[in-house]
Amino acid sequence: MSNPFEGSGRWVKAALHTHSTLSDGTLVPDRLVQAYAEVGFGVVAITDHWRLAKPRERDDVVLVPAAELGFDMRYPRYPRQSAEFLAYGIHDIPEDPGGDRSNWYSNAEDNYEVRTFPSLEAGCAWTAEQGGVAYVAHPYWNQLTEAELVEASGFAGIEVFNGSAETECGRGDSSPWWDSLLGDGRAVLGIATDDQHYPLFDLGRAWTMLHMTEPTVEEALSALRDGATYMSEGPLIHDVIVHPDGIEVRCSGARDVRVQTEEEWGAGVAVGHGGRRQGRVLATDDAGLITGAFVEADPGRRYRRVVVVDAQGRRAWTNPL
Ligand SMILES: [Zn+2]
Repeated sequence: MSNPFEGSGRWVKAALHTHSTLSDGTLVPDRLVQAYAEVGFGVVAITDHWRLAKPRERDDVVLVPAAELGFDMRYPRYPRQSAEFLAYGIHDIPEDPGGDRSNWYSNAEDNYEVRTFPSLEAGCAWTAEQGGVAYVAHPYWNQLTEAELVEASGFAGIEVFNGSAETECGRGDSSPWWDSLLGDGRAVLGIATDDQHYPLFDLGRAWTMLHMTEPTVEEALSALRDGATYMSEGPLIHDVIVHPDGIEVRCSGARDVRVQTEEEWGAGVAVGHGGRRQGRVLATDDAGLITGAFVEADPGRRYRRVVVVDAQGRRAWTNPL
């Protein structure tokens, strides 16, 4: 995959999984976009359940038409279990997506509805026909089996971190599913989101940065398609330079800078002297946190992705480089 830290363009903060009053969120679409604009987001994709939100166009935020849709699982672990994917760049919502109706339901109290495509592939194919891009939502929260994702195709990536699932029940981090797919040699991308429902509590808990040359929906979609992105729940990644024998990272103050690869071949550099360093610290801030590091990483690995951890334990993740 190409390195989005190279080349021209700028990083724009994106909310890619968020709910309005069209489903189980608490703000109307226009107010929701305003809430994100006020805290520095430049891209918002409202992803209501089986509803396509159409907030008012505005100059300062790129609005990506999107929804959170369901699919019948190939390997459900539980009765009537379905799972979700996020469809970006779509124009309508299918009335009858063709899945198993015994998996459909509506929850009037929380104002949401679940329908399903017959498979994840069918949902991804429908999204592609619309000119859109699909990402699998919260695999850990949904308890997807590894086989469910390994045997499916058509999605650009998975939701590696979901803030709402983390807050609700500690199931926000789906990076083990990601490493399984990457270890199989699949070019799967990641996004991080807040999955906002209650803005005072969860808006901005995590986000995805999109590398864009112009503020347009097409640019946002191509960043999602090509992996011109990185994810964060706090730290900033300023630059990533791939060297023959390792990866150089420039970031906001970090406690750890790691490179993850297949099997157990990852490596890391940490602050202090207590641990093993596979690389070196290149720069620190006034608090002694790492702002530049070189991490040893064999170019022969199937994939190499960077994780930056700040002093509070919040992470930022790159796609495979
Ligand atoms: Zn959601």
